[in-house]
Amino acid sequence: MTVKIITYRPIEPGPTLTVLGAVHGNERCGALAIKRLVEDIDAGKITPTRGTLQLVPITNPKAFEQNVRFVDRNLNRYLYPKEDKQHYEDHLDPILCEVLDRTTVLLDLHSYTSKGGPFIFLGANNRDELDFATSLGVPDFAFGWAEAFGTEGEDSKESQGTTEYARTKGALAVTLECGNHFNADAPDVGYRAILRALAHLDMVDAKSVATLKEEKRSVTQRVVKMKSVYRRDESAIFAHPWKHFDPVAKDQPMAKLANGDLIRAPDDGYIVLPKEQADTGEEWFFFGTGTALPK
Ligand SMILES: [Zn+2]
Repeated sequence: MTVKIITYRPIEPGPTLTVLGAVHGNERCGALAIKRLVEDIDAGKITPTRGTLQLVPITNPKAFEQNVRFVDRNLNRYLYPKEDKQHYEDHLDPILCEVLDRTTVLLDLHSYTSKGGPFIFLGANNRDELDFATSLGVPDFAFGWAEAFGTEGEDSKESQGTTEYARTKGALAVTLECGNHFNADAPDVGYRAILRALAHLDMVDAKSVATLKEEKRSVTQRVVKMKSVYRRDESAIFAHPWKHFDPVAKDQPMAKLANGDLIRAPDDGYIVLPKEQADTGEEWFFFGTGTALPK
């Protein structure tokens, strides 16, 4: 197995933007978005002007080939180079970490199982990172993952994925979920986000992003702070066929347990990443409340 890493290096120095696709092998949109970008650069439609653009279209090749999330280990957890390599993904860690070690800004493209559109996972409360995240043309944001799980402040390598690892090396890092795995527009969401990232970092000429500037959409920004995770009880069912970021009112039934008891929304808020067919005991959905972008 070989990991393909494509680098464009204009003469003018500048930041290093890294874009990752298919860190999870069944999430195809990032690979397609990067493929389109490479074709456009090679055809002269997009011209990098400074810095370094590192593209990894298929970060987990074996999982991509098998169209599975991962082979032995989730590459987006416990990410650091390991002496003792027990799993297939352990061999990818040093390759991926080396790429991230030379990264100034990371854009990691994913997709998800629930029905729904694109959103951005916010991590660090860092002004530059927020500015970068909000430049990508995606109006929905979620944050507070660790708090929802009650693992905030825990010094565990378990939660260290691409963005967390890159931040330990001083990079700005954003995960963009381009929508459901099968959304027809997911690759386009990813492609446009890469172009916007290049424009935000002043790494391409004006002609390259002229099409983006013509778009005038006024969309409402939604920022959701994740508050709690619900795990599925045996035979429990959704009260509604929830999509990601569906709004719920305080006391509205979100789910029904086998004994008929209802799980009601603790507040006005949103359903986050509902997975209707989760196994018993598995993460079923999250509840979060609307808020402003973290300062
Ligand atoms: Zn993913």
